[in-house]
Amino acid sequence: MPLKGKTAVITGSNSGIGLGIAWELARAGIDVVLNSFTDRDEDHALAGKIAGETGVTARYIKADMSSGTECRALIEQAGACDILINNAGIQHVAPIDTFPPEKWDAIIAINLTSAFHTTAAALPKMRAAGWGRVVNIASAHGLTASPFKSAYIAAKHGIVGMTKTVALETAQEPITANAICPGYVLTPLVEAQIPATMKEYNMGREQVIREVMLARQPSKEFATVEQLGGTCLFLCSEAAAQITGTTISVDGGWTAL
Ligand code: NAD
Repeated sequence: MPLKGKTAVITGSNSGIGLGIAWELARAGIDVVLNSFTDRDEDHALAGKIAGETGVTARYIKADMSSGTECRALIEQAGACDILINNAGIQHVAPIDTFPPEKWDAIIAINLTSAFHTTAAALPKMRAAGWGRVVNIASAHGLTASPFKSAYIAAKHGIVGMTKTVALETAQEPITANAICPGYVLTPLVEAQIPATMKEYNMGREQVIREVMLARQPSKEFATVEQLGGTCLFLCSEAAAQITGTTISVDGGWTAL
């Protein structure tokens, strides 16, 4: 099944991992729909840049992944949706007894519930097209835990579980559902955690990166957005047609510890 000409919707893709995945898919000839909750010229310009450099059709559609209605509208507006990459995500770090309830709700909505809505809206399109791929960007924190990230870890474990259910519900169809579990990837989401972690551990930037953030990543290297894009492409390939309902870790050995 050639990937050229298929359409991928990547949620939360105006920066970081989602944008990196969009670039890798576009380089393979896949039309891409970028998304975030903003509607700035620069968001649309990103789609224009991808289209200009790769020759695929690239569009940007504004939709807030904290709203179920907007999640479903994104898939409707996309038209075709052969490949769904559920990537949008936010983070908040605090002990559970002082964790702000509104942050809990937002993390569960954006990191987990959005994937329920987009998947529900996309599966009928995949069935009509006779082929589909759902790739959920979970985390090493979908398989293990760390302190102070209760909502994120609940959401990421949740999406790993939901991935398995979607895989079982589509097991006898040419549709697969899998989750990618990255370790630390240096993106704006991780960058934003560095100052607070420096303060908490009373360390400088480089020390915090190596000894705290990458403490559990045996390779001592961040994963890259290109590597995650390549992993998505593999899951979309014919070689991965019998890989469904599972997780692929891209974490420098984190979950082997
Ligand atoms: P990022 O902050 O660069 O990207 C997050 C994306 O989600 C952005 O495009 C942002 O605009 C979008 N987004 C946020 N709220 C949204 C909303 N309400 N509606 C629509 N879009 C919204 O962060 P990232 O590191 O690229 O994270 C992407 C995904 O990868 C997340 O699900 C994150 O949990 C996961 N992840 C990241 C790492 C890492 O180390 N960076 C590790 C494991 C998993």
